Amino acid sequence: MNFDSLAPQLASLDSPEPLQTECDQPATDTMSAEATPSFELSRWRAEFLDRQTERNFVQRDCRQSTAYVRRHILLTGLFFMLCAASHAASTDSMPTSGILLALCGITVVVVLGMLLWVGRRPQIIASGLASTLFVLWLIAGFGVMLKLEPESLGTYAMGLVLLVAIIYLFLPNRLHCMAALAAIATLEFTLTLWPEWHHAPLFLDFALMLIVVNALGYSAARRLAVTRREQYCLLIQSEAAQHDLREEIQRRRAAEAELEHRATTDCLTGLKRRCAYLEASAQELDRAERYGHPMALIMLDVDHFKHVNDRWGHAAGDHALQRVANIVREELRSHDIAGRLGGEEFAINLPQTDLVAAKKTADRLCQRIERARLEQWPDITLSVTVGITMFQPGDAVSAMLSRADAALYLGKRRGRGCVVVAPERILANA
Ligand code: GH3
Ligand code: MG
Ligand code: MG
Repeated sequence: MNFDSLAPQLASLDSPEPLQTECDQPATDTMSAEATPSFELSRWRAEFLDRQTERNFVQRDCRQSTAYVRRHILLTGLFFMLCAASHAASTDSMPTSGILLALCGITVVVVLGMLLWVGRRPQIIASGLASTLFVLWLIAGFGVMLKLEPESLGTYAMGLVLLVAIIYLFLPNRLHCMAALAAIATLEFTLTLWPEWHHAPLFLDFALMLIVVNALGYSAARRLAVTRREQYCLLIQSEAAQHDLREEIQRRRAAEAELEHRATTDCLTGLKRRCAYLEASAQELDRAERYGHPMALIMLDVDHFKHVNDRWGHAAGDHALQRVANIVREELRSHDIAGRLGGEEFAINLPQTDLVAAKKTADRLCQRIERARLEQWPDITLSVTVGITMFQPGDAVSAMLSRADAALYLGKRRGRGCVVVAPERILANA
């Protein structure tokens, strides 16, 4: 994937214009229309405008963000436990210290409840509900503190900065929820302390700090939201590319298999072509040599086939060849090897077969072919002459073929339609 080409589009996500990435284009040609998501982002919320895309993103992001939020809720719980311990040890007079102690205690209970709830229904984090409710609770607690504890303005301002940081950085939420919560916290702070702080000498500095803290928080959270969606966009693109690649590989494999099939299979009869037959036959010979198994080779030639062509035409001849090939296929075992050597000539290897069994097979073939009738040409009767030879140690395919061919020639001379076994004389001369 070309990341460089994506960079300008992704950079534009930060521009004030409607956000658009290269991902708005269909990621690939082959992706279906419903699988092509729109990656346009909303300007302020930094969420995908397309609801389904946003839902898919949230779903993917859910496990990671749930773990993150749970961790930070737990951390906040620990912080409030420490506060509770500190208030419990405090020598301050009641009721302020007592109320704050109770508040910290309740917050710890809220944290535990929240962790349980989030554990059962992680989607409340994805929807922003969990973080929103939790932060609202913190804001309420902050409000009570503002009322009860007579601290300095600076301490409260620090507390507010911490709260805004928690909202924007530690409890990832939907951007508009975070902005609203930070605004509520700031407003609460401003209104509660207004009588005291608008006379303060550093009023303007404080006000400026509040604005900067909120702006920074928003901008950091927005950047994070955009970056996570950019990553999602790249992930989807890379998955689409992988999907295309897988499909392409499958297409090529199928094409290769098809090519190989065409290269090795005779298109008229469906048997092996000469070369493929010779190759497979040579392997079988090797096996017979190695294990000392008997192996027979049958060569079969259709008798007076030229006459079939001349009298009934080539189409009839083709059908006759197909019929012969079908009978051969039906008679053979799965590990036998049959090929069309050329024209109306076929060769068959019968591994682990002795001469008696090979002769039986050849006789069966002859009988079935003689009985066979072609539907469109019922007048045609076929017969075949068969030559058989047995594997001799050290044999090559060519040697076996020439012995079988010699036996076949003998059969033709004897009047055709018969099975001839290569006699010793032929074996010796081969
Ligand atoms: P024999 O009994 O001595 O084998 O005589 P034959 O006529 O069968 O043998 P010959 O070699 O004289 O003729 C074979 C014929 O087979 C000649 C050729 O046109 C025909 N032939 C070869 N391939 C095909 C094919 O694919 N389809 C058809 N229809 N005919 C073919
Ligand atoms: Mg012939
Ligand atoms: Mg022939």
